[in-house]
Amino acid sequence: MKKETILSGMQPTGSLHVGNLEGALRNWIRLQDDYWMYCCIVDWHSLTASYKDTSGLKDAIFNMAVDFVASGLDPEKCAIFVQSEVKEHAELHLLFSMLITVPTLTRMPTYQEKKESLDSYGFLGYPVLQAADICLYNANKVPVGKDQEKHVWMAKDLALRFNSTYKKVFVEPEALFTEIPLILGADNRKMSKSLDNHIPLDFTEKQTQKRLRTFYTDPKKQRKGDPGNPEGCPIYLLHKLYTPGAKEEIVPNCKSGELGCVDCKDRLAQNLNEALAPIREKRAELLKSPDVIWDILATGRDRASSRAQNVMDKVRSAMKTNYRKKKK
Ligand code: SF4
Repeated sequence: MKKETILSGMQPTGSLHVGNLEGALRNWIRLQDDYWMYCCIVDWHSLTASYKDTSGLKDAIFNMAVDFVASGLDPEKCAIFVQSEVKEHAELHLLFSMLITVPTLTRMPTYQEKKESLDSYGFLGYPVLQAADICLYNANKVPVGKDQEKHVWMAKDLALRFNSTYKKVFVEPEALFTEIPLILGADNRKMSKSLDNHIPLDFTEKQTQKRLRTFYTDPKKQRKGDPGNPEGCPIYLLHKLYTPGAKEEIVPNCKSGELGCVDCKDRLAQNLNEALAPIREKRAELLKSPDVIWDILATGRDRASSRAQNVMDKVRSAMKTNYRKKKK
């Protein structure tokens, strides 16, 4: 069977955290064996919120690429590249923006949520750029969480509009839903760097333990001996991923009160540190030779560009906007 293509993207926020690892990256790593993978560090998307201060962008891109590779994304199987390095993203974004109305964009839930603070033309149009990111590689699948479903729907809609207006060029991309574990941060909200409730992959073992000690737990369980409720406790959610037999070990002991929250957190810290050790080792090794990472990004860009140029040739031809003299 012909291998299908996947496009996945992440905004360059710098070093990744446990939420990124479990919520996205592990899934990408699994998928890279079965699909043509394009892993795009979407720096233009990050400008919608932080266009004024771009001073940290280069470091953020570098650190993200380091964590991608250290976590197990294989540059041989997967093109890891930076969005702005493949200019065709901007070209297709512009062409797609002709095929969609302003009211359709203003109705998007993400725009409605943030329009008071982010009212730029760039933010309004970012779902169109996202659609261009996907269609530029003629991606069949896009691994997303349920909250991103609408954006894949928009890519599919724009692909269909283009195909029916001009000529069939694009495949219709589909969302690839996978069981993504819920990872909560120290304050019991979704783990996120911007909320500073996260556990970065580049934390030391001590920092990891210290951060876990600050985590929210069942408020009714004040001290060891009090019965607790592990369901909904962010520490237990992480135990489920990192402690073999957590259900049999943590649940009854938390409920009976025999297990105190400090011990429970320290046990998790030990298991989490063990699981992250190979990633941290690989990370440290990669940091010794930064050129390796820039080379990986350059190779990824070349592979992505070649595919993008091929698709854009078809787009221009379908639109009859290929004005260059044919090569003999
Ligand atoms: S014992 Fe563990 S699972 Fe139970 S409330 Fe405390 S931290 Fe959460």
